[in-house]
Amino acid sequence: MAKALFIEEAGQDPEVTIRDLDASILPEGDVDVDVLWSSLNYKDALAVTGRSPIVRAPFPFVPGIDLVGQVTGSRSDEFQTGDLVVQTGWGLGENRFGGFSEKARVKAAHLVPLPSGLQPREAMIIGTAGFTAMLACLSLEDHGTAEGPIVVTGASGGVGSFSVVILKALGYNVVASTGSGNVEYLKSLGADGIIPREDHAAGAARPMDSARWGGAVDSVGGATLEALISQTGTRGAVAACGLAGGSGLRTTVFPFILRGVGLLGIDSNTCPRPLRRKAWDRLSELCESTLLDRMATEIRLPEVPDHARALLDNRKHGRTVVRCFG
Ligand code: NDP
Repeated sequence: MAKALFIEEAGQDPEVTIRDLDASILPEGDVDVDVLWSSLNYKDALAVTGRSPIVRAPFPFVPGIDLVGQVTGSRSDEFQTGDLVVQTGWGLGENRFGGFSEKARVKAAHLVPLPSGLQPREAMIIGTAGFTAMLACLSLEDHGTAEGPIVVTGASGGVGSFSVVILKALGYNVVASTGSGNVEYLKSLGADGIIPREDHAAGAARPMDSARWGGAVDSVGGATLEALISQTGTRGAVAACGLAGGSGLRTTVFPFILRGVGLLGIDSNTCPRPLRRKAWDRLSELCESTLLDRMATEIRLPEVPDHARALLDNRKHGRTVVRCFG
């Protein structure tokens, strides 16, 4: 019988076990998948440790917001047995059993075909974090940026690391903001400059500070996002992706009405399918295999809880891929 990782109960530090998955408890869906790889994201870490109520379904529950796998049965015209498919988001691992499992049942409408330029493992090194970074960079491209470098906050995390890689591949001058001192790692990904996280931690010094950035990809939020908005140049933009440092936001309208700064919201979970496919295709063009490998730590299902705690305690960098087969 297939195995899966189960969070057994709600609340802090729940019991987490690897045990048999009876196919009869899989959710409704028109595509059955043998999961090959999943990945460990910030949301997964919150779910597995119970530090935030990410799971919106009864327990026991199988988390994992990402998966790549091979179709073993399909009631949809869009996918055939043997196809390699990717799902990120759409409630996977939040309100539907997720990717920390050998088998999954999903909806065809939530899947994209694995791009031909990516191996399954590579797709999960990318996962939700890389996909979100790609959406942020596409959003900056669409809006346009100002003169000056693009700053990436939370740079050694998943979204941050991929933002550095993608922006560099797109030809931008990239500055990585980090609090964890992974300087060599960030340079190896392509960062042209490194600044300490404290530069932005106190928030905006004034509503419109000296223009310092052509644009920004922010996974920190709170005071950091306030500072970025105030320091972005004329017609630049800030892509707001996350809240690793806080969810509040106090700002003024001045950067928006006097500099035309754009505040671009990034939501990977419900991203419409045409944009999803475009983002995955761009990722497969821009992400080199050697670079992906450098970002990845590989683990198996039983190691997920320890790595989840390490991720939340800021003891990890880059991406963690979870091998679900064999
Ligand atoms: P990671 O944990 O991999 O990275 C977060 C990074 O933020 C850390 O590596 C660290 O980078 C920095 N950081 C951590 N704690 C703090 C703090 N207290 N203050 C300032 N910086 C901090 O997470 P992900 O990259 O997977 O996700 C980042 C954020 O983006 C999360 O809030 C997540 O919920 C959100 N997210 C949003 C998505 C969307 O669709 N909008 C999709 C995926 C994630 P460093 O050490 O370099 O400073």
